[in-house]
Amino acid sequence: MHTLEKIKRYLPAHIELLAVSKKKSLDDILTLYHQGQRLFGENRTQELKEKQLKLPRDILWHFIGSLQRKNVKYIAPFIHLIQSVDSEQLLEKINQEAIKNNRIINVLIEIHIASEKTKHGFYPNELLTYLGQKKWMDYKNIKICGLMGMATNTDNQDKVKNEFQTLNQLFETVKKIYFTNNSDFKIISAGMSDDYQIAISQGSNMVRIGSALFEKENNI
Ligand SMILES: *Cc1c(COP(=O)(O)O)cnc(C)c1O
Repeated sequence: MHTLEKIKRYLPAHIELLAVSKKKSLDDILTLYHQGQRLFGENRTQELKEKQLKLPRDILWHFIGSLQRKNVKYIAPFIHLIQSVDSEQLLEKINQEAIKNNRIINVLIEIHIASEKTKHGFYPNELLTYLGQKKWMDYKNIKICGLMGMATNTDNQDKVKNEFQTLNQLFETVKKIYFTNNSDFKIISAGMSDDYQIAISQGSNMVRIGSALFEKENNI
């Protein structure tokens, strides 16, 4: 059986699978595409732009990496969802580029739930303060579709579980205060190859899987 099918068997039906294709070749991506996969995620704007030009038009591309404001313009014309919005300035910039392209850009707000300082995102309190200022409500060309988080890279499963729980609770809080009657705010993007089962147990409804999906089949 193909790896994609294997992973899908573990995923409850309501969980979306983002195939993280960073550093993978066009052929590797096409293999999954021909098995029906349409959501792919990249973390570098140049690499994404080149792949987008060469691969089928109906792929829905997600951006999941650290995004510099000056690079938003490269992906603004086609990006389906930017998952890694980690600052007010970036959100403002994405709105500007969306206006230039005459489109609405879907985003997730990245939340810093891990202990590593090197990871990005708003801290939960920071997000609540920012949303309270309501400036984001003026960004008409952005649709905020939910939250994204990365857990600490550790073998301590309880810690990982707690971090995903924090993300889920923040999602519920934000939903209740700002997005009660807004069905667009619905995504909790959490879980990668090593921790997606824990993430799903804590309410994630979108997993981002790279290495486990692209492993060569004879290695399994
Ligand atoms: C690389 C990456 C993933 C996928 O990681 P794997 O361990 O290969 O599944 C998921 N999310 C983000 C933000 C990434 O950078």
